Amino acid sequence: MSTKKKTCQVCGKKAASLTECKSCGRSYCSKCQSPSTKQNFCKECVAMEGVVSKS
Ligand SMILES: [Zn+2]
Ligand SMILES: [Zn+2]
Repeated sequence: MSTKKKTCQVCGKKAASLTECKSCGRSYCSKCQSPSTKQNFCKECVAMEGVVSKS
């Protein structure tokens, strides 16, 4: 594995800067930051918490 470059662990794309999710501990890019919280949670964790419900 060559994961020395910064890669978002949520969407898998390269990012200039990553934030560590407080919940799952993964590093995510700004696009994967949950829009519904100002805390450091990725959108996947917030979706699982039920804060964001698409359906
Ligand atoms: Zn991402
Ligand atoms: Zn997370």
